[in-house]
Amino acid sequence: MIYLDYSATTPVSFEVLDTFNRTTKDFIGNPNSLHKLGTKSQELINSATKQIADICNIMPREVIYTSGATEANNLALIGVMMKNHHQGKHLIVSKLEHPSIYKICDYLTSVGFEVSYVDNDEDGLINFEHLKKLVREDTVLVSICAVNSETGVRQPLKMIRQIIKKENNNTLLHSDFTQAIGKVPVNFNDVDLASLSGHKFFCPKGIGMLYRNEKVKIQPLIYGSSKSNELHPGTPAVALIAAFSKALRIALTDLEKKERFVTRLNEKIVKELSIHKDIIFNSTKYSIPHILNISLNYIKPETFIHAMEEKEVYIGTNTACSSGDLSTSVMAMYNDKKRATSTIRISISHITTSDEVNQFLMHFNNVYNSLNNLTSKEG
Ligand code: PMP
Repeated sequence: MIYLDYSATTPVSFEVLDTFNRTTKDFIGNPNSLHKLGTKSQELINSATKQIADICNIMPREVIYTSGATEANNLALIGVMMKNHHQGKHLIVSKLEHPSIYKICDYLTSVGFEVSYVDNDEDGLINFEHLKKLVREDTVLVSICAVNSETGVRQPLKMIRQIIKKENNNTLLHSDFTQAIGKVPVNFNDVDLASLSGHKFFCPKGIGMLYRNEKVKIQPLIYGSSKSNELHPGTPAVALIAAFSKALRIALTDLEKKERFVTRLNEKIVKELSIHKDIIFNSTKYSIPHILNISLNYIKPETFIHAMEEKEVYIGTNTACSSGDLSTSVMAMYNDKKRATSTIRISISHITTSDEVNQFLMHFNNVYNSLNNLTSKEG
């Protein structure tokens, strides 16, 4: 099997699974209990959280565990807008966000908030002038993802923050870090809030995190009892938290070395696929090497993906969470419906081997040539 859909999700690493298993077995107490088994579990959470805070250069009280990035995005956008509505009802997002952000925006609009969508150029970069114009006195929050899940385009968050704060120092910046963490460096101090998802960096599914600068006020979305976290009440997921901390520490180790390796694999794939004249590259010079997005002119993406699956090669269409078959990001960048409905996402990781890339290319070329011959004969 050749798995090249790492941006959809990653397999759990052996070391992380080991942490999860050992914690499940050895820490049976409810962290909210008063007895020593409870205290032992709470202490483990405290130490896991401290390790996360240390590597992210933030404070332990700024870490809020969630079930994943979808929940973190909800807590950030709804929680901030609800709590700070006296300051204004305006929110700005980019046109390159994950579908979860747009669903949240639809909800916020339905309850009386106003959403503006900032433009981007053909390379996927946020239009800074447009952003500047959109920030108003009543703009409470701007949400712009660090790395776009479909094309891998990375945004200069530091610069974006400067633009926003110059226009309105009270406007907060949230960023969805989901596709950036463990792939390229991110600076938590560039933003006020950030969403993370464990299953994108070799942790089990079901755990994520919202970084919330301690000065930012958020309204809880769920209510219940908790000893330590009123924004995510209930019994904490002890083993998942320990696994998340471990996975994050591994993900952030040797980042540059891992990125260099992935860049080499990406260059090899790009070089080989460039031979096919009908393939259009949607990733740009701002894309991280882990995500390669292409459009196949004459072949339906689902047909291609299933044909590759027959060879036990797994790649994606656009984002795994997209409800339709149109890539909103490719549409926002190129304004070309045909191009946006024929996208394929090849996502590689530092555990991808050169041999896997070679085999992938062999299968890709075979499948592409046979399907292309078929469609040109039909057409
Ligand atoms: N944001 C981005 C950028 C993503 O790629 C994803 C996962 N496809 C999500 C949010 C949702 O993450 P989760 O599956 O953890 O809810």
